[in-house]
Amino acid sequence: MTDARSLRDTDFTVWLAGLRSWAGKCIDGDSTWRQAASQGLLSLAAPESAGGTGAGYEAACLALEAFAEESGLSGMPFAMAAQMWACQEPLAEFSTPNQRERYLAPLLAGTAVGAFAATEYDSGSDLLSLRSRAARGLDGRWRLSGAKTFVTNGPVADIFLILARTTEGSALSGLTAFLVHRDAPGLHIGKEIDKAGLAGAHLGSLHLDDCVADDADVLGGPGGGFAVLMHAMRYERAFILAPALGLMSRALRRAVEHARARSQFGRPLSSYDTIRQRLVRMYLSLTSAREMLYATARKADGNTLDHGRSSLTKLHVSTEFNRFCQELPDVYGGYALLPETAAVALTADAVASRYYSGTSDMQMKIIAEGLGL
Ligand SMILES: Cc1cc2nc3c(=O)[nH]c(=O)nc-3n(C[C@H](O)[C@H](O)[C@H](O)COP(=O)(O)OP(=O)(O)OC[C@H]3O[C@@H](n4cnc5c(N)ncnc54)[C@H](O)[C@@H]3O)c2cc1C
Repeated sequence: MTDARSLRDTDFTVWLAGLRSWAGKCIDGDSTWRQAASQGLLSLAAPESAGGTGAGYEAACLALEAFAEESGLSGMPFAMAAQMWACQEPLAEFSTPNQRERYLAPLLAGTAVGAFAATEYDSGSDLLSLRSRAARGLDGRWRLSGAKTFVTNGPVADIFLILARTTEGSALSGLTAFLVHRDAPGLHIGKEIDKAGLAGAHLGSLHLDDCVADDADVLGGPGGGFAVLMHAMRYERAFILAPALGLMSRALRRAVEHARARSQFGRPLSSYDTIRQRLVRMYLSLTSAREMLYATARKADGNTLDHGRSSLTKLHVSTEFNRFCQELPDVYGGYALLPETAAVALTADAVASRYYSGTSDMQMKIIAEGLGL
């Protein structure tokens, strides 16, 4: 196992090979999250000025992909990616030195887990209609009230980035982002949401009952919540599916092995054109998804990532992920239902990818607007 310090001095390729070798042996659990962080996985995209290693977005995506591919874990790399793009990324952009120390540093080090809480029961795609509110009390401290749902890492997080309305009218200036610690008075963490797919990722709800926050806990200043949200979404939409590329690679490799090893009618499955074409279509989907995501990562590394490109990437990678999973079970037949093939589990992950970070319909809407429609 390498560590985060050595990453600064080591060739990234060598570091990545070390990560792959470690990930091939790791198991699902809190210690794995911490070990991945101590090797530097969570701090790759953060600039050195914010306490990261400054390796960049392409490097971070390669590491998330490799971690998922070698470990076969689905939920943990997804949850890490959610923290990296929706919590760390806006913290690196908007935080004060004090907030970097208190909130960003422990997230990068893996000693704390982060969660981004924007969605509400009545505000999913229509996020800007959110109703959680924050107002100053007579003591000058903020009090947050309302409820959040579908919060990735919610049940286990130590640090929450919560979006609430601070003034009526336009969301452009009426939303504020608050950093709230798990033990803050008035923060109640709901029980874990039972779900299909993304096994090992913990989703939950939050109840804000006069939850207390100080000015020092406001990220991006009062009224700066929309900018924080947009920044988080620009990176989350672009890169949340990096781990899925690794899971697709793993699934393709195994499906090819199965098609070569299993015979029916006296011939290997791999000799039948229907099976061969399925595997070729899966390879095409994976290649096309990968190429787009990494081209987008290079744009981010060159500081030219815009919202339209992020939405295009999210839409394309999730669409190809779903195409891939339409083919995968049919390589296995009845064996697709056995957990060791992971075919059904991966299909559930693909379905989820059409919804988180904004649904495919919403990405289409953003892209259409960018086209002037
Ligand atoms: C696995 C997972 C993790 C998540 N993690 C987080 C998290 O960490 N933090 C967080 O804040 N949120 C999180 N979410 C919430 C996610 O952002 C929402 O699920 C998503 O924005 C969609 O909202 P909704 O589920 O309420 O669907 P709805 O908004 O109810 O949409 C239902 C359907 O209607 C369509 N639709 C809605 N409006 C329109 C329209 N105007 N035109 C056309 N079609 C429309 C949608 O595209 C969708 O197909 C997560 C969700 C999932 C599934």
